[in-house]
Formats: sequence, C-alpha cells, structure tokens
Amino acid sequence: MHAHDREPRREDGRVVLAGARVVTPAGTLRSGWVAVLDGAIAAVGRGRRATADGAPVQDLGGAWLVPGFVDMHVHGGGGAWLSSTDLEEVGRAVRFHLGHGTTSMLASIATSPLDSMLASAAVVAAAAGGPLAPALAGIHLEGPFISRERRGAQDPDAIRDPDPAAMERLLEACGGWARMVTVAPELPGGRELVRQIARSGAVPAVGHTQAGYEAAIAAVDAGARVSTHLFNAMPGLHHRDLGTVGAALSREEVVCELVNDGVHLRPEVVRLVFQAAGARRVALVTDAVAAAGMADGDYDFGRVPLRVRGGVARLIDGRTIAGSTLTMDAALRRAVMEVGVPMEDAVTAASSTPAGAIGISERTGSIEEGKAADLVLLDDDLEVVGVMAGGRWVAREAAPARVSAATART
Ligand SMILES: [Zn+2]
Repeated sequence: MHAHDREPRREDGRVVLAGARVVTPAGTLRSGWVAVLDGAIAAVGRGRRATADGAPVQDLGGAWLVPGFVDMHVHGGGGAWLSSTDLEEVGRAVRFHLGHGTTSMLASIATSPLDSMLASAAVVAAAAGGPLAPALAGIHLEGPFISRERRGAQDPDAIRDPDPAAMERLLEACGGWARMVTVAPELPGGRELVRQIARSGAVPAVGHTQAGYEAAIAAVDAGARVSTHLFNAMPGLHHRDLGTVGAALSREEVVCELVNDGVHLRPEVVRLVFQAAGARRVALVTDAVAAAGMADGDYDFGRVPLRVRGGVARLIDGRTIAGSTLTMDAALRRAVMEVGVPMEDAVTAASSTPAGAIGISERTGSIEEGKAADLVLLDDDLEVVGVMAGGRWVAREAAPARVSAATART
C-alpha cells in the first residue's frame, strides 16, 4: 500500500467518502456516505444527497467503510516492539498496525524487571503525548503483579506480589497514559491493588490469574472492568466452579478480550462468548508480538525467547502460546468468516467496545458525527484497501476507488 495515492485535493480538509457500505452504530447504510471535515466526521448519510457543498467526492465503489480498529492489547508488529525504549522502533510498530486498520492502540508492556518497565513506560508515554498521538492511545501494563502459575510468556523472574509503592512508580512513569493494568487479584493485596489502579484512572483488568469465581467477583466489585484475553492464562469454566471466566461472563460491567486467531480459542468458544456477553462486552484484541507481519523465526519477548512457526508464537518449550501474530483486520475477518459473527457485531467488538473500555470513545471508535475520521475501507473479502486516520489516508491500495471530480450538491 502507498500513502496518499492519487488523493483528490483536500487542502481545505474536506472530502466526502461516498458509495460505501457504512457500518454505523445504528446499522449498515447501503450506498452510505461520510463527510470529513478537518479530520473529523462532519456528517453521515445514505443515498445521493451527499451534503458537503464543494467538497471533493471519493466514490468507494461499494466497499465496506468501518470505524478504525482499537486494539487495547498489543505488544508489537512488523518486527518492532511497542514497549521499546527506542522511539523510532515504537513508531514502526504503530505504523505496522495502522496499515492493518488499527487507528488507536495501547502499547502493552509485558512483565519484565521493574527498571525496564519504568523505562518503557516513560518512552511510550512521551510518544503517546507527542509524535505518535493519537494512534498510540496509551499504555497497558501486563503485570508485574500476576500469577506465577498462569504467567504464560511473562518473564517468571520479574513477577512479584502486589506492591503499592512499585505500582505507584509504574503509574507515575506512565505520566497519565496508563489506561489499563492487568493484575491477578487473588494475590495478597491484590484487591487493594485493583482499587489503587481504579483510583489512578486506569482500568483494572483481571488476567494471568488463578482467581476463582469469588475472588474474581470481588475484583469486579473493587473496580475491575476487563478480563485480559478471556480463557487464556486463567482457570477455565466448570459448571460447579465458574472461575475467572464465569465471573467475567456473568458481570455486565466486564469487557472480555478475545484473541481470535484460531489458535488461542476455538471458533465455537468465540461464538459462545459473543452469544453470552454480546458484542458490546467483547473486545477483539491481537496480543500481537513483534513477529506479527514477519517471517517465522526466533524473537525475544523482553528476556523471554520466542519461536514462531507457521505464524504461531510459542515459548521455546514448543507448547505455551506466547502472544500472537494477529492483526485487527484478520481478527475481524475471522470473526465474520470463520466464527459467523454478524459484520456489525464484529465491528463493534473491534472498535467501539474497546474504545469504551479504555476511555477514548468520545474521540473515536464509531462512525458518528463529531468523532475523529478514523476509518477502514474493506473489500468484499474484508481485506484492508484503505485506512484513514484523523481524516488522512495513511494507507491506500495502489488502485484507488473511483474518484469523482464532480462536486456534491446539497
Ligand atoms: Zn499480552
């Protein structure tokens, strides 16, 4: 894909994207249009009467137009880590996922020695507040206060018991950009840690946990609002022992992350979660590592070596899954085509639900007047053919949709 390919003149910041299947919160508009003005969505409608007088019109030829994806759990991609202390590398990871339609993402900082988490947090916070805004929407701290038994690919030597002072240092290093923290609430002091995170303004997430049903429910009562990659790195669901999974599914306040890559979860389980919780409580996430978009090979996840074979990242033991090589467009595609989730629900789970969960839904996450013009253009196979972020095409397939020089009339 090439940036800014044959884009109509838009030096006045206006364009009307027309002739698309526009997925809005109120449903899909056939032959819908979206008027973009100064980086925001100025109006949305259907039919021929595009509103913006004098604005150039781009005919999208019947393609899907959906809101930019929001990935609240992602570590890297395109060979780069979002948690790098090298700003240039963070930027490469952001641009990789932007190219796959993710217009807002949290940088997930995995469990590693406290000093290295602090250093990562400081760099990512500066980038989120500066050169990589608004695509880099904040930080997700995945640990270090998690269960050793359920560590998955997290660095075992860096895992620690809840420590309010260390938590405070981490939150401070994030400089207000900590939007989510994954903790195991059953650890000593875990529930108080959930309260501390909630007080800071970040969202407490339950994950990498051994919590049983009662401990998980108590965490929700203390302010937990997200279940980190539901089913993965937590006890499963049993009819007399509902565990963390049962607690997450049964509480309306909880958004359930799903790594829908066909490896972490069977498609039938993904379908069940959509049926049980509804798309407004399901967030598709990638949990992608730097290997996403790259060839098979060996990668380092902090100090933990990973081996990627057939696009599946595992620890060197060859068993434990270690993040994914997923991208959000692939997660959406799989939800619709392999799992059978209706398009509108899959879009909700890829955009508006995660945007709400991490507190950015005022700005983005749906195609509605006043929101940022964060948009993804998908063909009939749900492959990305264009990505607009803040009113600018950041990725566009070489053969652009038909561009009309005609002026729209009101
Ligand atoms: Zn993760």
